[in-house]
Amino acid sequence: MTVVTRFAPSPTGRLHVGNIRTALHNWLLARRHGGTFLLRIDDTDAARSREEHVVAIRADLAWLGLDTDAEQRQSARFAIYEAAFARLIAQGRVYRCYETQAELDLRRKVLLSRGLPPIYDRAALALTEADHAARAAAGEAPHWRFLLDHDTPIAWNDGIRGAQAFDPRQMSDPVVRRADGTWLYMLPSVIDDVEMGVTDVLRGEDHVSNTATQVQMFTALGAAVPRFAHAALLTGAEGKLSKRLGSLGVADMREAGIEPQAIIALLARLGTADPVDATLDPADLAAAFDLSRFGRAPARFDEAELDRINAGVIHRLPFAAVADRLPQGMDEVAWLAIRPNLDRVAQAADWWQVITGPIVAPATDTETRNYLDAAAGIAATLDWSTDPWSALTAALKEATGRKGKDLFAPLRRALTGMDHGPDMKALLPLIGREAALRRLAG
Ligand code: GLU
Repeated sequence: MTVVTRFAPSPTGRLHVGNIRTALHNWLLARRHGGTFLLRIDDTDAARSREEHVVAIRADLAWLGLDTDAEQRQSARFAIYEAAFARLIAQGRVYRCYETQAELDLRRKVLLSRGLPPIYDRAALALTEADHAARAAAGEAPHWRFLLDHDTPIAWNDGIRGAQAFDPRQMSDPVVRRADGTWLYMLPSVIDDVEMGVTDVLRGEDHVSNTATQVQMFTALGAAVPRFAHAALLTGAEGKLSKRLGSLGVADMREAGIEPQAIIALLARLGTADPVDATLDPADLAAAFDLSRFGRAPARFDEAELDRINAGVIHRLPFAAVADRLPQGMDEVAWLAIRPNLDRVAQAADWWQVITGPIVAPATDTETRNYLDAAAGIAATLDWSTDPWSALTAALKEATGRKGKDLFAPLRRALTGMDHGPDMKALLPLIGREAALRRLAG
C-alpha cells in the first residue's frame, strides 16, 4: 500500500519548532515509503487565516528542504464538506442544537458540582421537527453536533502510544459546525483525509482526544480509519517548553545562523533514544525513520544541542551549499580551510578578513621580534607552491632550536593577529607570500 501523509497547519501564524517537527515526521514517513506528502492549509477560519502566513509556511518548508507533492486548501473545498455533511444528516449522524455557550457552561458547572463528568446531555436530540421549525421561524439557526455511536467502543493501535481505548459514553458529541454555517476543524479534516487517501496521520499528543472522535467520523463516512501516531510533546531543557522556545520559528533560527540540516537532524531524532548526528541529507534520516523508536516521554528540545549539531553540519557543508553566503572572492580552498572553525557560516567573513587583511599587528618583545625577523628571512627563500607552513616551521626549528608552542604561537599571532584559528598549514597559502612576509616583518 502506498503511504500518503499530510501536514495540516492553520495559517494563523508562523511555523514553530512544534509544528515543524510534525511536518518533518510526516515528510519522513512519506519519503521512507516512497509515498506522498501533502500540504493541507487549514484555512476554514477566514477571520484568523492570513495569506502572508500561507506564503511563509511554504517558504519555511522549502528552506527546511521538506518538499511537498501537492497542496490543498480547505477554503477551496467547502462544496466537498457540504456533500459529506448532507450524507451525515441523511444518516442521522449529525444533529441540530441551540444551546448558548452560557447555557452549556452552566450545565457543565452543575454536573461538575455533583461530581459527574461534564458530558453534553444530548438534550437537543429530543427536539421535534416542529421545535426546529419554531426556532427557525424565530430566526434562530442551529449549530451541529456529531452523534457519537455509544455502542461502538473507540480503539486504535497508535504508532507511538500503542493500544488506545476510549468509551464514547464518556465523551461529548463534538460540535462540528457553527450556527453561522462555518466549520470547526474536526469534520473537514476527516473528510479531507478520506478524500485525499491519507493513510497515516502523525501529529502531537494534544490531538489524542480529537482522534478519539475522528475515528468514528471515518467510520460514519464509510471510510477506513487511517493509521494514527501521536508524538509526545516537546519540552525545553528545563522540563517545560518556554514561551520563547515554543514560539521559536524558522525565521528566528535562520537569522541566528542555524542551518536547516541541523534543525531537521535534531527534530527527526528528538523523542527517540537514537543519537543525533549532523546529517546533511534528510533522505538519510528518512531511510532510518521508524515510529517504533519513539518513546512516550516528553522530548527535550535543547538549544545547546541544536548549536552543537549546527556546528557539526557546518563542518561538513560543501562549498556549493554556502557559496552565495560567503564574502566576495572567498573560494572553495578557503572555505575548506576555515570551515572546521565555524559554528555559524557568517563567521566565515571574520576569517576571510584575517586572510585578506589588514590585520592588527600584535605587540612583540625583542626576543619575539628577532624570532619573527628570522622567520621572515626564511619565508622569503621558501618555495611557496607546496606547503610553505611545514617548510617554514621545519627550517625555523632547525635554525632556532624552538619547538612546540614557542615555535608555532608567535608565528600564528604575527600572521593572523590571533592566538587560535584554522590550521596554519591551510591558512598560510591563502594569506600568500607577499602578505605573510609583510606580517612577519611587523
Ligand atoms: N490544523 C490542525 C492543527 O494545526 C490540523 C491537525 C491535524 O489534523 O493534523 O492542529
